[in-house]
Amino acid sequence: MTIAIPFDNSYARLPGGFYTAQAPQPVRAPRLVAFNTDLARLLGIAPGEVEEMAQVFAGNAVPQGAEPLAQLYSGHQFGNYNPQLGDGRAILLGEVLGSDGIRRDIQLKGAGRTPYSRGGDGRAWLGPVLREYVVSEAMAAFGIPTTRALAAVETGETVRRESALPGAVLTRVAQSHLRVGTFQVFAARGEIAYLKRLTDYAIARHYPETQGSMGLLAAVRDAQARLIAAWMGVGFIHGVMNTDNSSIAGETIDYGPCAFMDTYHPDTVYSSIDRYGRYAYSNQPDIAVWNLAQLATALIQQAEDKEAAVEEATEIVHAMPALLEREWLRVFAAKIGISAPRETDKPLVTDLLTRMAREQADFTNTFRTLGSDRARDHFTDPVAYDSWAADWRQRITQEAAPEAVMRSINPAFIPRNHRIEQMIAAAVEGDYTLFQRLNTVLARPYEDQPDHFDLTRPPTTSEIVPATFCGT
Ligand code: AMP
Ligand code: MG
Repeated sequence: MTIAIPFDNSYARLPGGFYTAQAPQPVRAPRLVAFNTDLARLLGIAPGEVEEMAQVFAGNAVPQGAEPLAQLYSGHQFGNYNPQLGDGRAILLGEVLGSDGIRRDIQLKGAGRTPYSRGGDGRAWLGPVLREYVVSEAMAAFGIPTTRALAAVETGETVRRESALPGAVLTRVAQSHLRVGTFQVFAARGEIAYLKRLTDYAIARHYPETQGSMGLLAAVRDAQARLIAAWMGVGFIHGVMNTDNSSIAGETIDYGPCAFMDTYHPDTVYSSIDRYGRYAYSNQPDIAVWNLAQLATALIQQAEDKEAAVEEATEIVHAMPALLEREWLRVFAAKIGISAPRETDKPLVTDLLTRMAREQADFTNTFRTLGSDRARDHFTDPVAYDSWAADWRQRITQEAAPEAVMRSINPAFIPRNHRIEQMIAAAVEGDYTLFQRLNTVLARPYEDQPDHFDLTRPPTTSEIVPATFCGT
């Protein structure tokens, strides 16, 4: 049996200035450690022999129809503009049309050096590859827009980080890898013909119902607002919301030092490189607005009438905070069982969150057990819950099916950071049991799975992971 990927490439048809043709660099001894059969089916990929798949998803064998390339982009990293980033360790093999009619990129992450590698080695180590695999698939199971993981391969080589670590390659699937930074690079260079071409391409690929650069801006705004509100709802902290990690399609992309909160606190930061908390949990909506403003600045460069474009773009960007607020309330109201929130429901939600922060309540478990006898036990002072719950019970008497609403949005299982770290530590020793188990359980995050109750537990004091490190 030979693996067959029905490539139908469009990015490779764009002008040469958009990318550099670049083959992945072979590795010594590839070993397939994960393959996502459900996703493969959606993509119309016929799996091959395991050995052959290891070769393909390590980049050792370029499959028929692939046109490997590294994409050019730039971006603001922690607020500072970097004029040239680009795929420094990722190779786009090509695109496929899924059985759902959606076009998706197939990309190898960690596939070797490219012209955009700057000082980097073009490689990834096993830890971040497995973290991205588990977390992105969990995100998909939550129903939150995200890139997906098709395969993971160990390379049989070591990469040098703080120490020598096992190398790996992740096969990432995305609705596209267009970023805010893809627009920024052409705008900053004054390459207006390319900027226009990119705008047309993005509209045709992601928002065919919209028109013009300002139509695109508004569509990206709406998608990003929904995405960030959904992140907030599951306690997700991306960790590196740079403009090059901000997807035009509105997917979660570039999982690096990301994590889900255990104990609720709005200021939570995990990333060891985010020293000033720019990308803290509660800053994410503001940062999404800031990133949209950078997209607006880039898009405006192609306007004939700059003044009019500035005015229109400003209006679109200025509407985002209210939109985020509305999406946020929709998510958090549902989390307490309210399906059509009123403005007056907001204080009820914020009151709960304030008490949770003060009483160190576990974010996921508190929402999952709301209304049950167990909820109050998550608060250091259970009375803080009781007095809130009295008001809340009053309010939800007016709701038709609060239990069902809550159970469809409050997961029982999240990829807790201490489990991810345990999973990585075991995999480095060749034990993939926890990796498999996390994938299986997190595929159905809204179902109680009593056999896996241990995975709902927050970390013990000795298990707490204070920081996660950059995905390089
Ligand atoms: P990230 O923080 O993963 O979004 O990456 C930011 C930029 O650094 C992108 O241009 C990446 O391609 C590049 N990069 C990250 N890690 C490496 C690496 N190991 N080798 C080469 N380039 C890298
Ligand atoms: Mg990135």
